[in-house]
Amino acid sequence: MNSKNDILFARAQASTPGGVNSPVRAFRSVGGTPRFITRAEGPHFWDADGKRYIDYIGSWGPAIVGHAHPDVIRAVQEAATHGLSFGAPTEAEILMAEEICRLLPSVEQVRLVSSGTEAAMSALRLARGATRRDKIVKFEGCYHGHADSLLVKAGSGLLTFGNPTSAGVPEDFARHTLVLDYNEPQQLEEVFRTMGDQIACVIVEPVAGNMNLVRATPEFLQTMRRVCSEHGAVLIFDEVMSGFRVGLGCAQGLYGITPDLTVLGKVIGGGMPVAAFGGRKDLMQHLAPLGPVYQAGTLSGNPVAVAAGMATMKLVQQPGFYENLGAQTNKLAEGLTAAAREAGVPFCADAVGGMFGLYFADSIPASYKAMMATDKDRFNRFFHAMLDLGVYLAPSAFEAGFVSAAHSDAVIAETVSAARQAFTRL
Ligand SMILES: *Cc1c(COP(=O)(O)O)cnc(C)c1O
Repeated sequence: MNSKNDILFARAQASTPGGVNSPVRAFRSVGGTPRFITRAEGPHFWDADGKRYIDYIGSWGPAIVGHAHPDVIRAVQEAATHGLSFGAPTEAEILMAEEICRLLPSVEQVRLVSSGTEAAMSALRLARGATRRDKIVKFEGCYHGHADSLLVKAGSGLLTFGNPTSAGVPEDFARHTLVLDYNEPQQLEEVFRTMGDQIACVIVEPVAGNMNLVRATPEFLQTMRRVCSEHGAVLIFDEVMSGFRVGLGCAQGLYGITPDLTVLGKVIGGGMPVAAFGGRKDLMQHLAPLGPVYQAGTLSGNPVAVAAGMATMKLVQQPGFYENLGAQTNKLAEGLTAAAREAGVPFCADAVGGMFGLYFADSIPASYKAMMATDKDRFNRFFHAMLDLGVYLAPSAFEAGFVSAAHSDAVIAETVSAARQAFTRL
């Protein structure tokens, strides 16, 4: 118990369930003591013992321009001097809405909220209210936040804990959620053939990042678009993670598919609580105060949070931003793969934009089932070896990783060199 992290974790557990405010931070999946972070800058953060890590979670995605970017910090400081929250509209909210609508052609109108959970929950209610249908379709391994209807065999933290559903979700709610396999277009055809007139919406991560990284096949998303249109169901792309992470046009831009509604979060807040849902104007007009679908938020569009988001959104639009981010992420994936090959460890990696997946398997998994078959124990040993060597990966075999614009060649090289050592320790 010499480590300040141990001392803080013991204290935290006395006042907070499990010592953390979000489950995956607790290291339950990998074992050991979570690191308590004191500060962050660029690609690094420091724990309570003063140890420095190269950070590959980036606050689970938002830190795309690197931690504590001067432009973002300045924007927050300036906004804060004008007051923290008004409960009345501001021009900054218009600018953010206009920016999102300009960058995403599928989004004609948008509403700002404070978390991805809230945005996904609201998009579902809107889809149900607009179609007057109750059933929703989701896919095993996708995570859309912790609203009741969505905690039905949900992924990520839940997967890690081996709980297929959460206690406290009434079976009557779960009954309306159909859970299909990711990347299985025939299942979509089948379910729409049998009950298409009852389905309000399909919600999907178009690049899945909550069961580790899994790319959707184009056929899967195209089939989804077609059956939703044929049966009057709303197609919701949950781009909370992939949005402005895989490219400026988000996953919908990469695949060339137009969803009816899009859910955003993480990057658009630049590290502050901003999320959003938006899409077709005729759908969005069902929302209060115009329509009968209720949705509200005391801190929605908070001026300080929006300032951080807008400063981040400005930086990602600099010429070459995503080309550079993608190149660095690919260098990391290729470097780790080569290091594993040298050590004779079955391993592969994948990258889309600034997101990556690491798999202790012979080939890149394309399904939830294949992901579950990867070597979790080996991942856990690798995780701890890397942590020792000053590289902080996601503390679970079933989470994606994130690279920022501050991850320079030197930082990637340092990571790959640590991995060479870590792979030989497995
Ligand atoms: C993180 C995430 C959410 C939830 O967002 P919170 O801000 O944590 O509530 C929803 N959907 C996806 C795809 C996510 O990655």
